Amino acid sequence: MKIQKGDVLLIVDVQNDFISGSLAIPKAERIIPVINKYIDKFENKIFSADDHLVNHSSFVEQGGPWPSHCVSGSIGAELHPDLNFNSTTDIIVYKGGNKNKDAYSAFETRSLLQYLYGFKAKRLFICGLATDYCVKATVLDALNLFEGEVFVLIDAIKAVNVNLDDGKTAMQEMFDKGAKIAILDELQ
Ligand code: ZN
Repeated sequence: MKIQKGDVLLIVDVQNDFISGSLAIPKAERIIPVINKYIDKFENKIFSADDHLVNHSSFVEQGGPWPSHCVSGSIGAELHPDLNFNSTTDIIVYKGGNKNKDAYSAFETRSLLQYLYGFKAKRLFICGLATDYCVKATVLDALNLFEGEVFVLIDAIKAVNVNLDDGKTAMQEMFDKGAKIAILDELQ
């Protein structure tokens, strides 16, 4: 498959807290070199980042399911330093700003769709963290909201697996709803 004008790479939540911080996903660091290879291949790239206030409703202290993570302005909220993100030229969209609402999908940020229109995007390639939460929610929203094809880069995602099969189940759901699969070696 050849990468074409109008193809966009979306890198979901490759942030310190999800790799080595308060909500570290097992072996998540292994996908960073793969994602960097995708970054080299694509001209159009959008990064998403989870970004919460200190007392966000998804945190355990507030009765939510997760330890405190990606608090605005903290190291944990920063994109991982090994990720080839250029803060002066690359696009980043933030989600999770609504204190009372979980924000798994990168499409909760309206600007994401605007950027896709701006790129005249025809195909969207999604990778990042985590397969069973933010990647899944983003892919499912993309299938509803984005009018082109949606690909999951299955060699550049990792699951939390609160239950052993969560990642597998999430993949099945994404593919059942119409997402397509791609891997690095297939893309030129
Ligand atoms: Zn969050």
